[in-house]
Amino acid sequence: MSRSPSKKIWRKAAWLLKSGRVAVHAVGPYGIHATVEGEHDTYEVTYAQGEWECECPYRDFYPERPCAHIAACWLVWNAVKQGERDDGRDQG
Ligand SMILES: [Zn+2]
Repeated sequence: MSRSPSKKIWRKAAWLLKSGRVAVHAVGPYGIHATVEGEHDTYEVTYAQGEWECECPYRDFYPERPCAHIAACWLVWNAVKQGERDDGRDQG
């Protein structure tokens, strides 16, 4: 995630987390698998081998930008990654 996406997405991501709409099935420094209950539907989000995937339609419209579901999972994943940092590689 090189540039910060719109603030709106992060606001929504924070709201999704706060509302308990993010069900994390598995998370580690190198990946995450979660189900996010969006406003209209429920989507599966995965991060593996450096690729974020989400089932929602926004991902098709804006493939270069994360959607709020991915942003919410990123917040979870990033917190885990920070907690487990071992050698400090791969920052940024
Ligand atoms: Zn999405």
